[in-house]
Amino acid sequence: MSYLPKSPWLVHYDASSCNGCDIEVLACLTPLYDVERFGVLNIGNPKHADIFVVTGSVNEQNKSVIQNIYNQMAEPKVVVAIGACATSGGIFRECYNVQGGVDKVIPVDVYVPGCAARPEAIIDGVVQALGVLEEKYKKMGKVAK
Ligand code: SF4
Repeated sequence: MSYLPKSPWLVHYDASSCNGCDIEVLACLTPLYDVERFGVLNIGNPKHADIFVVTGSVNEQNKSVIQNIYNQMAEPKVVVAIGACATSGGIFRECYNVQGGVDKVIPVDVYVPGCAARPEAIIDGVVQALGVLEEKYKKMGKVAK
């Protein structure tokens, strides 16, 4: 797999996590892992993002927010579900208000396991997302810039 010639920009949303996975996402930005040195930026605007990183499970309160962020992102885009809650509902999946993982409301391309997901696994998930993004660019007949 060759990689995109551009740096991937991420938008991160904490759906309803316990913050464990969010802390690990932030750990990826600390000097120990420092993904920004590869041009990976965690940005606040979904319109500028290539990859949607979601932590936590889906419930009635946040499903419209998840869909709203997803719909604001330009094509092609990739969704990465981080941690057991985002992939399946995790330990909260039996709660009365939890509907399950992120794929209950938007398409998910990459699932990162763990409770909490380790920074190495999150970075690996983003690398997998780059491959998916590249394939989507090819299917659209576009060349990434
Ligand atoms: S997967 Fe574990 S650490 Fe991550 S949000 Fe769920 S309960 Fe918290």
